[in-house]
Amino acid sequence: MRSLLLLAVLFASINGAFAQDKAVEFTTIQLSDTIYMLKGRGGNVGISSGKDGLYIIDDQVKPVTAGLLKAIRKVSDKPIKFVINTHYHADHTGGNEAIGGAGAVIIAHDNIRKRMTTEQVSIFRNTTTPPYPKDALPVVTFNDRMTLHFNGESATAYYVASGHTDGDAIIHFPASNVIHMGDMFFNGLYPYVDLDAGGSMQGIIEAADLALSLADESTRIIPGHGPLGMAEDLMNYRDYLIQASTNVQLLIDEGKNLQQIIDAKPTSEWDEALGKTWITPPQFVTFIYNSLEGIPHFTPLKEEEKEEEKEEEKEKVE
Ligand SMILES: [Zn+2]
Repeated sequence: MRSLLLLAVLFASINGAFAQDKAVEFTTIQLSDTIYMLKGRGGNVGISSGKDGLYIIDDQVKPVTAGLLKAIRKVSDKPIKFVINTHYHADHTGGNEAIGGAGAVIIAHDNIRKRMTTEQVSIFRNTTTPPYPKDALPVVTFNDRMTLHFNGESATAYYVASGHTDGDAIIHFPASNVIHMGDMFFNGLYPYVDLDAGGSMQGIIEAADLALSLADESTRIIPGHGPLGMAEDLMNYRDYLIQASTNVQLLIDEGKNLQQIIDAKPTSEWDEALGKTWITPPQFVTFIYNSLEGIPHFTPLKEEEKEEEKEEEKEKVE
């Protein structure tokens, strides 16, 4: 009886230790002869696999690196030669240390390396991130754009200033007719605009415009988060971001402050479909408001302030 109990305890603790990795299911979709999209935990990964070997775009969160590598091995057992990071966030760079340490060359925009070598403070997420270890850092950095000629295709990374952060690139595979948007595109949910890291809603709209200028109706779009999209999904995204920004601007022009604009629900037509997964409607409105007003950080919504304002409103009415 006792040994059975011990066995049960042992089994439970083993399960606990592996629970994190076991819970993650990796799915891979082939998009062309050479390009794949992989979903697991963190930002969606792009894979180029062909006669020259492998390279990947983004590498998810650190705890799932072993599972990620296993899933990539199902596509090809050739070495990973390059990693391109779309931006510095930990859910897109978590595998860098292991994969860079194993010999892959990490490529990213100049600002990604700057952020990864210094402590990062996020007001929105209430986190402080220490500098990354050396193996995780980009070895090659670029400014405006960068083209990788590999596996018979010339793929270009385009930098768009001040979008999701201040270091985002989108990657265009012209022969495969695929674009990896990183977190410039959240498909099916409101986007996270990292104002604390130099992001802005205008930059995200510019990135969508740039991608659409490179796309046709059959272009497959890999979003940072959410399911694979088509150019039409990206167009709808761009359109609602512009419409929501216009709605907020009209309220700013009426002299309303952030709380009053949130209370006016300027994004109500999309809130049900897009505002329930992660970014809430008040957060989305704050991203837009702060972007339009040039406020370079997230403004936390303080409960006390909200209450005070409601009291003031009441007094006015009375
Ligand atoms: Zn991100």
